Amino acid sequence: MRSITSFDLQYAHRFFGFGGEAAYLHGHTGTLTIEVEDSVNMGVNMVFPCNEIKKIAWDVLKNFDHALVLREDDPILPAILDVYEKQGIKDGTPTNTMKGEAFKTELATAYPDCRLVVTKETLTTEGMIKIVHSLLKDKLNIVKITFTSGDNAASETYEVSESKDRCPVCGILLEDGKCPKCGYQK
Ligand SMILES: [Zn+2]
Ligand SMILES: [Zn+2]
Repeated sequence: MRSITSFDLQYAHRFFGFGGEAAYLHGHTGTLTIEVEDSVNMGVNMVFPCNEIKKIAWDVLKNFDHALVLREDDPILPAILDVYEKQGIKDGTPTNTMKGEAFKTELATAYPDCRLVVTKETLTTEGMIKIVHSLLKDKLNIVKITFTSGDNAASETYEVSESKDRCPVCGILLEDGKCPKCGYQK
């Protein structure tokens, strides 16, 4: 069975080198849906508590919310960093508190201090799915990711072979056979 969780992400981007309106900086509220598949955990009668999926995924996804997402070779990137630098907000401000965990993968690097994600490829809905899967695939048994943003939407499905050990009391992932929340020991 599957547990399904959705997130709203407000972000700005542009399609660098694209012939159309999307070549200009603009923003979206995108909706990302993550489907996690596993056996039903008999203790809690759930695959995975959706608030736990939310917590695990949001740690990473926060980086895309109220953020600017630009391709690494976009010439607008140094110009924006220059403005942030001159304004003294490039390395963060006390009011920038909803920060995600910084990450760096082959596809993207997050700079939470200035709410920027630099990507290797243009951030299309397909591109977002690739990035999110690479960031979360080891933490959750993701079988499907859907991302809709403006008129665009994409989805991808994945195979998962192993079941993850979950606490029969809280439903969350066990760490070395132990529940980090209630202390249950397998
Ligand atoms: Zn767009
Ligand atoms: Zn527990």
